[in-house]
Amino acid sequence: MKTSILRTPRARRTVKVAAVVAAGVLALTACGDSDSDDSDTGSAEVNDDATFEAGTTMATLQEAGKITIGTKFDQPGFGLKGLSGDPEGFDVEIGKIIAGGLGIEGDDITWVETPSAVRETVIEDGDVSLVAATYTINDERKERITFAGPYYVAGQQIMVRSDDTAITGPDAFKADSKLKVCSVAGSTPADNIGEYLASPGQLVTFDVYSKCADALRNNQVDAVTTDNVILLGLVGDSDGAFKVVGDTFTEEPYGIGVKKGDVEFCNYIVDTLKKASEDGSYEKAWTSTAGKVEGSEVPTLPTADACA
Ligand code: GLU
Repeated sequence: MKTSILRTPRARRTVKVAAVVAAGVLALTACGDSDSDDSDTGSAEVNDDATFEAGTTMATLQEAGKITIGTKFDQPGFGLKGLSGDPEGFDVEIGKIIAGGLGIEGDDITWVETPSAVRETVIEDGDVSLVAATYTINDERKERITFAGPYYVAGQQIMVRSDDTAITGPDAFKADSKLKVCSVAGSTPADNIGEYLASPGQLVTFDVYSKCADALRNNQVDAVTTDNVILLGLVGDSDGAFKVVGDTFTEEPYGIGVKKGDVEFCNYIVDTLKKASEDGSYEKAWTSTAGKVEGSEVPTLPTADACA
């Protein structure tokens, strides 16, 4: 599998098994358990017999035998690039399922890191054929791209340091205007948290969530907010340093982003994911990745919106 990085916001990572390597402390990543070979995560079937109408995105990709997919590189359980070089996670498996239906093997996927704020742009610019990156479907984004899905529904929540007893949910920020909360630029949680703040200055943003986790660990912020499943992954990787508090307070339906108006490709993705939920590969994609994180439940594929 090939990877490339559109931007390089690599942040220090923590490990399950603390691996401290002299000075400079480089982190190892472990997504759930230590298994990281393809036999554990490879849930995607490769269909060599599919036929597509000439001129469609599917036919073009099938003919090329390769695809470039945007995903996250620092979100344990959904898209995490470890030292092995290959990203792993539920979104990565969903990407492999979509590629597999086009006859494209995992090794012929080029993965590029797509932080939240660049997702629409990389799709518009044709840098990637699709984005699978904890990507909430909403009207503003639909003005620039087309979404296939939802294929999962998350919800926004709050993460704090484990020894924190003061913050029990988003209402804490209005009650104490000195508290700072971190999220990612260009994300829906960064927008949504606004109404819970006493002043906009309480929100600190970075380009990726691993930097928020670092800021929380270093006491530069008091909380991190984003989707529950992203936070659960960060908690699982934190060696007990973090915990999630309060209930989810938004709905974040995840979609696959494709070029605006490519309804055929969108329909292909919807159909492929439906088949994957029927043949067990959707469930396997989950249980081999995000499903390993404590507190997660096996999802049922939601009914997809009409492609537009
Ligand atoms: N699902 C939210 C969003 O798309 C938050 C996760 C993310 O930033 O990737 O904005």
